[in-house]
Amino acid sequence: MKSAIRVCADWESTHDTPVYTLTETCPECGGSAVNSAPAPYNPEDPHGEYRRALKRRESG
Ligand SMILES: [Zn+2]
Repeated sequence: MKSAIRVCADWESTHDTPVYTLTETCPECGGSAVNSAPAPYNPEDPHGEYRRALKRRESG
């Protein structure tokens, strides 16, 4: 079964935490929401460490 959960595409600059939604737009800021599948690794991503920490918390 395919997951339909999306996350605000611009949450890093708009929100303190990822905003998840089942629709194509963010319910908080009205911006576009993208599939929440993990993004490709980006060594220049300044938020990479933060995002990985969040993922650890989500997975328990
Ligand atoms: Zn948003």
